[in-house]
Amino acid sequence: MEEIPESHPRYESLLTRHRIEDGVERGITSTQGLIAQGRGEAFDYLLGEETIPSADEAARAAAAQLLLADHPVVSVNGNVAALVPGEVVDLAEATGADIEVNLFNRTAERMTAIADHLREHGAEEVKGLTADARIPGLDHERAKVDADGIGDADVVVVPLEDGDRAEALAATGKTEVVVDLNPLSRSAQAAAVPVVDNIIRAVPNVTGHARELAGATQEELEAIVGEFDADAARTAAERAVREGELVS
Ligand code: ATP
Ligand code: MG
Repeated sequence: MEEIPESHPRYESLLTRHRIEDGVERGITSTQGLIAQGRGEAFDYLLGEETIPSADEAARAAAAQLLLADHPVVSVNGNVAALVPGEVVDLAEATGADIEVNLFNRTAERMTAIADHLREHGAEEVKGLTADARIPGLDHERAKVDADGIGDADVVVVPLEDGDRAEALAATGKTEVVVDLNPLSRSAQAAAVPVVDNIIRAVPNVTGHARELAGATQEELEAIVGEFDADAARTAAERAVREGELVS
């Protein structure tokens, strides 16, 4: 991997591309993941490649949801594993969440490569390989989850999730936190908490909020969740994308 000078104006974007490329080379990310990243980057460009205030509020609500959860799970796919493996482990630690690998294009090789990669970044337990439960309403391969992971979860973080799966998961009644740069994507629309931000920024931001809220009471956490308005967050993000309101 060639060195990118940190002074480069698009340092973060270039670094992200290198991580995704590297993910493909290691068998972690699918080639379709490259296309997904391109879709995301276009929105990030329009958002000014920064965390807009509504996304920060969403990240705080997500942290509160995770801290209130009985069984939170962070779902990891090939793009997430390539971009933020250590940050996912930190988030799971800060919120007591399980980590589960969940792939749109599931192959045994990629499942194992991702689980190993997460363990190299400090994950103790990685779920998803047992696949002994199904999300109703999806075809066989796409429905697979672990019974003691996403199957049993009450709050699930699904970054960069396919729209069908995000909708099917929300229909099970689980509280869904979605990280997706497109506020109009079906995944963001299905979410109880849509975090419209680059996963590179969003995951550490949720972790930071979780650490800050570690001492909060249940009432305080419930108030944060209660005050959060998912529709308002989606509307604010859509406005930022359409109008280039980069700072508000
Ligand atoms: P829909 O959800 O409307 O069906 P889709 O499923 O076709 O859309 P995909 O390309 O499958 O969309 O999913 C990728 C989603 O992840 C896109 O909405 C894209 O904006 C988002 N995305 C890609 N890279 C990132 C990233 N680095 N951070 C946050 N979101 C990202
Ligand atoms: Mg989608």
